[in-house]
Amino acid sequence: MSQRHEPVFIEALVVAAAFVRFCRGQGLIRGEWLAIDGSKFEAVASRKAVLSRERLLREQALLERRVAEYLEQLDAADASEGDTGIDAAAVREALQVLRQQQAQAAQGLSRLEALGTTQWVMSEPDAKQMKGHGPAYNVQTVVDAEHGLIVTHAVTTEATDNTSLQPMAEAARDALGQSTLKVVADAGYSNGAQAEALEAQGIVPYVPANRAVNNQGDGSLFDRRCFTYHEATDTMRCPAGQTLRRKQLQRGKHRVLYAAEVAQCTACVLRSRCAVSSRRIVARHLHEAVLQRMQDRATPAVMRLRRCIVEHPFAALKYRIFEKPRFMLRGRWGAGMEMSLATLVWNLKRAMAVLGATELRERLACG
Ligand code: SF4
Repeated sequence: MSQRHEPVFIEALVVAAAFVRFCRGQGLIRGEWLAIDGSKFEAVASRKAVLSRERLLREQALLERRVAEYLEQLDAADASEGDTGIDAAAVREALQVLRQQQAQAAQGLSRLEALGTTQWVMSEPDAKQMKGHGPAYNVQTVVDAEHGLIVTHAVTTEATDNTSLQPMAEAARDALGQSTLKVVADAGYSNGAQAEALEAQGIVPYVPANRAVNNQGDGSLFDRRCFTYHEATDTMRCPAGQTLRRKQLQRGKHRVLYAAEVAQCTACVLRSRCAVSSRRIVARHLHEAVLQRMQDRATPAVMRLRRCIVEHPFAALKYRIFEKPRFMLRGRWGAGMEMSLATLVWNLKRAMAVLGATELRERLACG
């Protein structure tokens, strides 16, 4: 990013935020329902520019195999007195190339180790290799339901949306200057700790739970939903009416394990439908209560509303304003500025579509 362009882009950022405030003041943004969604936009870098530990280790293994093959050929040529058909000089030359490639792979691995990462995009260090996209950024937007205006956005390097619920909802609250919000997002945003923090601030998330059903065996046994949790005693009740007590907290996996006594399961008539080992163990998410509350709120009607709110703006950003989902500016800062301009364009077009160009111009002149 050229230094001489920076003031222009910072101005664009300020104007984009000011236009959101203007739209809010004009009632174009209602701030009642907001939808959060993310989409990948490719960075200015090719897939070849990605230094990945996994790829380098694969490359190293392949190179080792090929070096061993060539060495075997040289040994065979040395051992044989007759003509083996092996061009020893050509094999030595090929070996030299392979050794150079081995050195490059080793250099790449040391570089990643020094950086403390498992992947690095050489020409665009801010970007991350994202599945199905090559080096990319994950663009997050928060869209208001009233007219589909984008309230706020962020260019992130997280490949998944799992950690974006809270920061995006809080950014939307700050952009709108209101304390309570209803935010809806798909199951990729399911994050119990963040949802709890939002609820405590008066922001109500509507997100389907994204968790395993805790099946056992081939999936035909009772799943976790057949076990009822009792908050007062912190126990679970199984389909046979037995009590499963808290056995282990697995903080890293965000769950607590509950189990019945072995004697109970051994004597149980339902055992063939419940446990594959001596007793049944059931996992409960550490933030199960808030996940369940979000799940209950995320009704089919709410999820339909989410689709209606977010799909149009992202499609327009990707294929009408950007033409294709790929940034032109380098670095996260450049990508962020480019996205600010794009969201400003989208919001201007939406406001113009709702009010008409003349009315919008007049209101802007007064505002
Ligand atoms: S096997 Fe154990 S956990 Fe399962 S229903 Fe029987 S007693 Fe309950």
